[in-house]
Amino acid sequence: MDLDHVLYEVTDGVAVITLNRPEAANAQSRKVLEELDGCWKSADHDPAVKVIVFRSNGKHFSAGHDMSSTRDSSEPVEWHADSYYDWETRHYLGYAKSWRSVPKPSIAAVQGKCIAAGLMLCWPCDLIVASDNAQFSDPVLAMGICGVELHAHAWEFGPRKAKELLFTGEAITAQQAEQIGMVNRVVPLEELQEATINLARKIARNDAFALRMAKRAVNQTMDIQGYTNAIDSIFDMHHFGHARAALVTGGIPSLAGLRAMQDKGKARSKG
Ligand code: ZN
Repeated sequence: MDLDHVLYEVTDGVAVITLNRPEAANAQSRKVLEELDGCWKSADHDPAVKVIVFRSNGKHFSAGHDMSSTRDSSEPVEWHADSYYDWETRHYLGYAKSWRSVPKPSIAAVQGKCIAAGLMLCWPCDLIVASDNAQFSDPVLAMGICGVELHAHAWEFGPRKAKELLFTGEAITAQQAEQIGMVNRVVPLEELQEATINLARKIARNDAFALRMAKRAVNQTMDIQGYTNAIDSIFDMHHFGHARAALVTGGIPSLAGLRAMQDKGKARSKG
């Protein structure tokens, strides 16, 4: 596969997948997601890879899905419930779930802003190392939806903090994320890459099969507690939100459309 937006290399048992679209704040277009998925699959299938590091170049980890004019022409641009549901099932929810299930330890290195679908790049990883300037948020309530497609908020933030962050759209800092257990460790920005690679190398010294079973044991515990079932069922609530927003705004779910809807509502209540 030709990689335009992603870099991939394997050194000493560690595969490093780098999202390299800093000019667009690492926004995720269809091409970006397909390239990332290809790299996750390569790392999964390569017996030389024991640990996977996921990182991005630039000031911000990821601004989320690409909602701008730079999105690929092959992405859906008009609202159609069937194709939109299928699109998000395969490309948004499907990729995130399959990356979580790759049977090798993975570590995300997060700097700057990690917004909305940015969470769907780091949450599927087993560990998260954050720089001291990292911030995490999911402000998509403004689009009429209950959170990003991988609705792991209650698991990652805890139920009460999840509600606060969803209701307000506010971000939490790296330090707060570490306190609630969403992040493993926080390091100075200039040390982020080195600290992540060192952690990956330390883990890679262990037995690959034992690592695989340790990962499976924890993921299996979460699944018995309902993680995957909850996320699959909430995905439909997410789409109910998209459908309702499309019905009200008459088009593809967008922030601009929803703002217009809210403005109309305000104007109506004034009149
Ligand atoms: Zn969606």
